[in-house]
Amino acid sequence: MTQLRIQPGIMEIALYEGGKSALAGHSDVLKLSSNENPLGPPPAAQQAIREAAATVHLYPSTDHAELRAAIGEVHGLDPERIICGVGSDEVLQFVTQAFSGPGDEIIHTAHGFSMYPILSHMAGATPVCVPEVDRVVDVDAILAAVTDRTRIVLLTNPGNPTGTILPDAELVRLADGLPEDVILVIDAAYAEYAEGYDGGASLASSRRNILMTRTFSKIYGLGGLRIGWGYADPAMIAVMTRIRQPFNLSGLQMAASIAAVRDLDWVRDCVALNADQRARLTGALRQLGLACDDSQTNFVLARFTDEAEAMSADAALQADGIIVRRPTSYGFAEGLRITVGDEAQTGRVIDTLTRWREGAA
Ligand SMILES: *Cc1c(COP(=O)(O)O)cnc(C)c1O
Repeated sequence: MTQLRIQPGIMEIALYEGGKSALAGHSDVLKLSSNENPLGPPPAAQQAIREAAATVHLYPSTDHAELRAAIGEVHGLDPERIICGVGSDEVLQFVTQAFSGPGDEIIHTAHGFSMYPILSHMAGATPVCVPEVDRVVDVDAILAAVTDRTRIVLLTNPGNPTGTILPDAELVRLADGLPEDVILVIDAAYAEYAEGYDGGASLASSRRNILMTRTFSKIYGLGGLRIGWGYADPAMIAVMTRIRQPFNLSGLQMAASIAAVRDLDWVRDCVALNADQRARLTGALRQLGLACDDSQTNFVLARFTDEAEAMSADAALQADGIIVRRPTSYGFAEGLRITVGDEAQTGRVIDTLTRWREGAA
């Protein structure tokens, strides 16, 4: 029998666990476990996909020029500083693979995105986990963890599953405190939901070691299509482009995301719906005696007294056909992360938890 020679780090990877999507015995399942947009994909993007379907025999553009131009125009950014990927996950993979390897360290924070240790191991690098304070990223703890081996800091801002945000002044302090040869990645998947936040764009515009990542999976309702992008100094973009597969994005992905990014009314409506229902859900959870931070995202992290209570509430939700996320792998055994739905969906969650509370009381 031949022996498989596996690259360092690969067998350290614990497989990613996605949000569940089915419940036995339920036909009207409400999936609030993956922070998907309750309004679905924008109609303009659906139309663009239908139109692009006629030309899928042609290879797509390899430089994504039209998509980068559209993103640049809408966000006021230089298209030469933009790189597009199969979800922001792929952009995160570009940066870890291009800038780290065996012997190097990649810092992430205690409740950071669960893909970070996976991406670090994929590159052969060592993930280093830094604590947070009261579910908020701790800049001093990150800076204290930097060593000669540190190559990258991966930061989710706003956080998932915490929903908290590091204020701009703290982001600047972090950027200022890092050595110039350490890359700071600001994963701003939920930027649109945080008022007055540019996702780190202005920082990434003015410095050479900062990468902002964004996604079409959340506010644009295109998670199933897999499109994301990164924004950084042209020199960093050029390095990452060397390891990007030339046809990583299909014509359908580009057509849909170009239509979506130009649909500013859609974004405005989704942000407004989310803000209303998020405030309603947060208020209701607190009324029920559950702790939760003010969220800057499209989900709320409800904290229970202990794991048993969280499991009891989760069981009640599942009995009513509602799937939320148990963020155990993020270090919150006593929590439930609930995606903010539309008015009816949020009502369903509140009703179930209210009845659960009455039964449990
Ligand atoms: C959802 C999410 C993303 C988006 O990933 P895609 O690959 O773009 O779908 C990125 N980072 C965080 C923290 C997320 O929660």
